[in-house]
Amino acid sequence: MATINENYLKLQAGYLFPEIGRRVSEFIAANPDKKVIKMGIGDVTQPLVPTVIKAFHEGVDEMAKADSFKGYGPEQGYGFLREAIAEHSYKARGIDISPDDIFISDGSKCDTGNIQEIFGNENKIGICDPVYPVYADTTVMSGKTGVCQLNGYYEGVIYMPCTEENGFIPELPTEIPDLIFLCYPNNPTGTVATKEELKKWVDYAKANKSIILYDAAYEAFIQDEEIPHSIYEIEGAKSVAIEFRSFSKTAGFTGTRCAYTVIPDELLAYDSEGNTHKVKKLWNRRHSTKFNGVSYPVQKAAAAIYTEEGRKENEEVIAYYMENARIMGKSLKDAGYKVFGGKNAPYIWVKTKNGMKSWDFFDKLLNEANVVGTPGSGFGPSGEGYFRFSAFADRENVLEAMERIKNLK
Ligand SMILES: *Cc1c(COP(=O)(O)O)cnc(C)c1O
Repeated sequence: MATINENYLKLQAGYLFPEIGRRVSEFIAANPDKKVIKMGIGDVTQPLVPTVIKAFHEGVDEMAKADSFKGYGPEQGYGFLREAIAEHSYKARGIDISPDDIFISDGSKCDTGNIQEIFGNENKIGICDPVYPVYADTTVMSGKTGVCQLNGYYEGVIYMPCTEENGFIPELPTEIPDLIFLCYPNNPTGTVATKEELKKWVDYAKANKSIILYDAAYEAFIQDEEIPHSIYEIEGAKSVAIEFRSFSKTAGFTGTRCAYTVIPDELLAYDSEGNTHKVKKLWNRRHSTKFNGVSYPVQKAAAAIYTEEGRKENEEVIAYYMENARIMGKSLKDAGYKVFGGKNAPYIWVKTKNGMKSWDFFDKLLNEANVVGTPGSGFGPSGEGYFRFSAFADRENVLEAMERIKNLK
């Protein structure tokens, strides 16, 4: 008799995006003449830059000739890409990361989920609220939690509220998590963590033998010189943190798929007898057993981001999104909303007026301004009363959406 992994039965139905889709379709069906502007999605809208496309094409052409054809590549990724990352993403910022500590993959979503299987199920997981839903759901799937409670919190997870009061950086929890998910610049709040704030977490992890799972998917959007791009900019972080990075948002690879995970050689975890083990060794074992590498043309395209031309072109795309974010931040503020984020991240986190619930604001915005955003409560209970706007949009739509919101009654 085949049985299932019953942890899957604990999962709450993926509610947020299907529900948004349902309400939008219903509105469009009833109002076919209205132009709906979507500012809810966390997906890029601008195409890959020319230098990346050129390298991508070259990679494909190499596959067409016998003398340059490539079969299976190294599971960890090609040396040329790992070296380019170590050089340009880390060494250029004064961080010493060996190419051997970098694992190329097809996405950070997969990596942040898959990483859980190399850690024991007795680990307590610390998760921010509101949060990118993948961390919680994959924690449930891996069997590290109890059931979902009425307030939307899973039993056995240590939730760390991120609120206006704490500047959307959680307080160090009194019940100590063994694995701590942090994401800065943050999705959904668009806020960032300073060096001092991250140092608190690194020291806390060190003191408690915990590991920080640091999602830096939006690091390329940081504008402020003082804000760290990597957790490894904090002294001592290499012995307590894994870092996830992705080309998805930083270079428009959401549909092309390429990301990487950094596990420093010095990062250790314990077995039940208290002996230490290199985390990197376990991840390497997992990665080379269950993954067969990212396609060669894609890795070649990703490496082109680090050329002078590629970097310049990409910076222009990021500047375009950040100008959207600036316009949105200013317009929403002028319209009387309290606005967070959007300065070093492509997300604007808006407090609704007069304590309006997130979903009520969603309906008002859809019905009266024909604009779609994402209700904050969909990211966790502490997101109630907030709303996320994404700067991944066309300028024309941003300007029109902001004009409509300004005119809302
Ligand atoms: C978009 C996003 C990612 C990237 O996921 P990929 O699988 O690499 O496309 C990772 N973390 C967060 C918080 C994101 O919003």
